[in-house]
Amino acid sequence: MEHVHDYLIVGGGMTADAAAKAIRELDANADVAVVGAEVHAPYQRPPLSKALWKGELTPADIDLHTKASGAKFHPSRRIVALDRSAHVAQDDRGDSYRYRRLLLATGATPRRLPVEGGDRLIHFRTLEDFLLLHRAAEPGAFVAVVGGGFIGAELAASLRGAGCRVSLIFPEERLGQGRYPDGLSRYLTDYYREHGIDLRPGTRVQRSQPTDGGVELSLTDGSLLRLSAAAAGLGVLPDTALAEQAGLEVDNGIVVDEHLRTGDPDIWAAGDVANFYCATLGRRLRVEHEDAAVSMGRHAGRAMAGAVERYEHLPFFYSDLFDLGYEAVGLLDTRLEVVEDWREPNREGVVYYLEHGRVRGVLLWNVWGQVDAARALIAEEGPFDAASLKGRLPRQA
Ligand SMILES: Cc1cc2nc3c(=O)[nH]c(=O)nc-3n(C[C@H](O)[C@H](O)[C@H](O)COP(=O)(O)OP(=O)(O)OC[C@H]3O[C@@H](n4cnc5c(N)ncnc54)[C@H](O)[C@@H]3O)c2cc1C
Repeated sequence: MEHVHDYLIVGGGMTADAAAKAIRELDANADVAVVGAEVHAPYQRPPLSKALWKGELTPADIDLHTKASGAKFHPSRRIVALDRSAHVAQDDRGDSYRYRRLLLATGATPRRLPVEGGDRLIHFRTLEDFLLLHRAAEPGAFVAVVGGGFIGAELAASLRGAGCRVSLIFPEERLGQGRYPDGLSRYLTDYYREHGIDLRPGTRVQRSQPTDGGVELSLTDGSLLRLSAAAAGLGVLPDTALAEQAGLEVDNGIVVDEHLRTGDPDIWAAGDVANFYCATLGRRLRVEHEDAAVSMGRHAGRAMAGAVERYEHLPFFYSDLFDLGYEAVGLLDTRLEVVEDWREPNREGVVYYLEHGRVRGVLLWNVWGQVDAARALIAEEGPFDAASLKGRLPRQA
């Protein structure tokens, strides 16, 4: 079957949703279609490791209502080929989609453990993954989380909050190592222990095997865990297969210009999959966070509908870890010069990351409403040092 759409969006995530809505705002009669590989229409992904576990939201609440923008949604279909000269995309069921302008919002896919564990070893990313893990994670169930990064740390806290026995397996010595200053990383690691999480630092999964209704993991520390389920959060890889097949430039994501356009004048890319130039930080970035997905999706949608604007937004990100939480902007990397300014050590304060006297990243640890002030600081020339940054944030409105 052949479908004909003015605007075609490949990928059914938050970026796709933001783009569809932005196109509609500028072009009231736009014929927009979204083709997504998942069975669900676009939904908010962050609650999958947070609010859905606390019962604050249900799966129905996270639906983004993309259809309200008038876009047609083609679910459970993966675009597998793109003929750029003919302006035709082809899905995995043999349908084709003729387009005038196209957005690649294919996002990212989880890195996989090099072991086979059956369906109770969940490489956590989607609503289906949440539903599967949630069913297995009854109070008292023994669940392991593999990976101590953003997703792993959040999931471990949420599973513990849901009454599970939780082991957290990760190769580093401490949680947040390399991202947070040493003291904070130590504090967070102890905090997880105090909250009843069995931490396995310096440990990897060696083998895994499905069991009757569960999964078994053998770890490099010699232990064997018999689990109801294991959730892996090992980071993601940009889903660039289609862009590569189409001959677009790919380098840690799909390379786009300051308007989020690829080398093809009729194709844009945005969200987790896009590699863009961030003028404020003076380097190319690929960001795997909600604010980037939504702002880039929106920007690309507007550009596709004719707006001529540079993408100059510096995305922020956030996380919740038990009752600790933060917002952050820019680069969180302890290889930069780190300046800590605590109101209460490790409980409330601001961490700055500097390079040649310029602020390149700001971690707002239990400090709220300061994202714009942090962005402004990153844009300033400086030079800054520990003395000039002391008490700089939070800034009163
Ligand atoms: C559990 C979890 C918690 C998170 N929490 C936070 C948080 O607290 N704060 C924060 O800032 N960010 C968070 N994030 C990150 C944020 O959700 C992502 O950055 C954002 O959702 C990326 O959106 P996207 O649309 O670019 O990509 P994706 O969400 O990856 O969506 C891409 C979609 O495209 C589909 N697709 C891929 N290829 C094709 C194809 N060829 N044809 C059709 N469809 C295709 C995929 O199946 C997928 O549905 C979290 C992510 C996860 C997984």
